[in-house]
Amino acid sequence: MRDELEILLYGDAGLRRKSEPVDTFDDPLRELADAMTRAMIRENGIGLAAPQVGVARRMLVAQPGGSHGIKVYTLVNPEFTFLSRERDSFHEGCLSLPDILADVDRPVRLTVRYQDLDGNEQELEDDGLLARIIQHEADHLEGILFVDHISMLRRKLLAKKLRALSKLARGN
Ligand SMILES: [Zn+2]
Repeated sequence: MRDELEILLYGDAGLRRKSEPVDTFDDPLRELADAMTRAMIRENGIGLAAPQVGVARRMLVAQPGGSHGIKVYTLVNPEFTFLSRERDSFHEGCLSLPDILADVDRPVRLTVRYQDLDGNEQELEDDGLLARIIQHEADHLEGILFVDHISMLRRKLLAKKLRALSKLARGN
């Protein structure tokens, strides 16, 4: 049984690394997925990517809630095979950037191919909150954070909060 996972904060170099594909589908991977799910629920999040807990591997969990119920989606090695040209804006937050919210523009609809925890190929389509979460979490696998998508002006307004978070991350 893994200890409770700590979530890296903005400013931690681990959030800027590009994650490696998962090639072994074993018990440690399943335990990591379980621990990530527990951490996401504990922090009242709706998504979490492995690099946010210091593991540079291409895996994410998502829990859109609402009409999707409490189903947790676990996507290993996700690849987008379709992203709609139609985009919309949505207020995003991130467990690695607590207390920061910003409108982010992203494609509305997507198809994503991924592997489940047994290594089986899967595919899902969505045009709602799940699609939004998956795009946000897949960015983490590239070392991209949602604040990278917002305007310079908006980021300047957030600069003070971001600096305070970086200080916290370094203090850990
Ligand atoms: Zn995030």
